[in-house]
Amino acid sequence: MKPLLRVAIDCNLSTCLFARSAGSRVLGPRRSVVRSVSAAVGLSAARGPIWAISWALAAGLLAACNYGGDSVRRPPNIVLVTVDALRPDHTSLYSYERDTTPFLAELARTGVVFETAYASASWTAPSMASLFTSLPARSHGVLDGFLTKAGPNARHDMLSADFVTLAEFLKSKGYRTFGVSTNGHLSQATGFAQGFDHFLEDSWKDSDRANEMARSFAAELRGGGPYFLWIHYFDPHSRYRARSPWIERYSESKRDQQRWAGLSMPELERRVSIFKRDEAARAAVMRLYDSEIAAVDSAMRELFEELGIDDGDMLVLSADHGEAFVEHGRMGHGGDLFEEQVRIPLLFRLPGGRRSGRSRVPASIVDVYPTIAAAAGFEIPEGLSGADLFSMSGLNSSQRVIALELDRGGRSRRALRKGKWKFHMNLRPVAQPRLYDLGADPAEKHDLSGDESEIMAAMRQEWDAWEGAHTLFEAPHVSITVSKQQAEQLRALGYAH
Ligand SMILES: [Zn+2]
Repeated sequence: MKPLLRVAIDCNLSTCLFARSAGSRVLGPRRSVVRSVSAAVGLSAARGPIWAISWALAAGLLAACNYGGDSVRRPPNIVLVTVDALRPDHTSLYSYERDTTPFLAELARTGVVFETAYASASWTAPSMASLFTSLPARSHGVLDGFLTKAGPNARHDMLSADFVTLAEFLKSKGYRTFGVSTNGHLSQATGFAQGFDHFLEDSWKDSDRANEMARSFAAELRGGGPYFLWIHYFDPHSRYRARSPWIERYSESKRDQQRWAGLSMPELERRVSIFKRDEAARAAVMRLYDSEIAAVDSAMRELFEELGIDDGDMLVLSADHGEAFVEHGRMGHGGDLFEEQVRIPLLFRLPGGRRSGRSRVPASIVDVYPTIAAAAGFEIPEGLSGADLFSMSGLNSSQRVIALELDRGGRSRRALRKGKWKFHMNLRPVAQPRLYDLGADPAEKHDLSGDESEIMAAMRQEWDAWEGAHTLFEAPHVSITVSKQQAEQLRALGYAH
């Protein structure tokens, strides 16, 4: 690891890693030789069949796409960009009223935009672990974790070394692998650096810093052989700042631009009652958020030009979760599983732009790994929960099940989407299940659980089947020492619970 590596939090893996339980059979992307760190603590995996039948039935490609059929001649460079808390309906890719992402829109002209894409959870760690393992949250076990308590007891679920991550898979195929993280939940300490030859992290920093770290790879990227580069941008995560020159385009009033700028998530949450009754105030906060999105889009353009990332490379753009602006009474993310918190953008631009259009295949973040593998010309490894999104053409999209889970800080929620229906279960604190018709009610405002008893029963059955097919994996933990100052900084970012 180069000296540029800066870990914002201290940890000692050798003394604090432990497993919660042991199990038996493992299906899925598991390495054949378990790393010593896992063996030392007797870590093994307990998971059931990874493919639920409903996933295998999969979904149909309904939109008009001029997909070509040419095969991949050589493994392409692969660039994966994830943007923290980027909700799709605030980007130009998804017809937002502001042109917040003109660069992404340019890329999308020779790419495929998945109109209905979901995270696996509504906060960073489980969702990104799902991206890197192609497993739902329960099956990789990265469910809970806080970095907000000062002292040595900040316990965080860790991405187990048992899994062959996307980075490790590509490395095994001869890729040189590079990672840049600006979110402390996606760190070497929490297991997210596995598979990366070069991994730089500097937590809670914006795209200037992310680009600086990525730029430091420039000479090596130009070296021989294909590379895999992952960059995680943080800008749209709170605190929302007024980013110039975009904020001036979104609002002429200086006062309006600055009124809510720089407030922490707890400070914004304390003002939820204002945002509920005052649409202008809510809109002003969203303008700040939009300016952060535009800043990332601009940073991406700059970096791609600098690194020479072009049409010959594969690009994948997504997010770890969305962001709420009191649609269901909350701000931020990680609180529930409503659409604003779990929908993510998903754009694939394949080398040479050989497929383009918009796809209505219901997509999940677990599909990113197999879709990249297949598009790069590799056989998809066994045991992945997701599917190659480009192989789903013609199948019935209404059959595909999208499962969502949230288990954090004592809060436990489940949701399941199938066709137009979305079913919610709050397990802790317990509440009545709810049902929404996303076709007629995409904002999830009208609970139909009392009117649609047959659908409710079917959705519950669907959930039970999915749950039965995806048993829990007990992930190891890492204990992270957080300084008082770091804890305060993190609470300000909205990680306090
Ligand atoms: Zn996040």
